[in-house]
Amino acid sequence: MMGVRILFVDTPIQAAKVSFMTTYQDRKAERTARYHREHGLKLITCTACNGSGIYDNHGTPPCGCCGGTGKVRERPPSPPVTKPHWRETLRRQEALKAARRARR
Ligand SMILES: [Zn+2]
Repeated sequence: MMGVRILFVDTPIQAAKVSFMTTYQDRKAERTARYHREHGLKLITCTACNGSGIYDNHGTPPCGCCGGTGKVRERPPSPPVTKPHWRETLRRQEALKAARRARR
């Protein structure tokens, strides 16, 4: 949301400048919103049409999944969770027990 700005306009050049800056602020807000909406998403080939944007070559409407662009934005898969080796888990448990014993 834009805050209230008081602007003094005396000349046409100033008016043009004020107009540009107000549209600039709006466009900037749009860009910021888009950044937060799409940050971290990957532009990948649409799997429904395989990037062509249409389903076949018989004059069908554009692909419903990607809207005819052939690309969709998707979050990339998160890396697999790696579990420590059971021996490492055992070693940590033993170390914890020893530390607790030493504290007593
Ligand atoms: Zn598609």
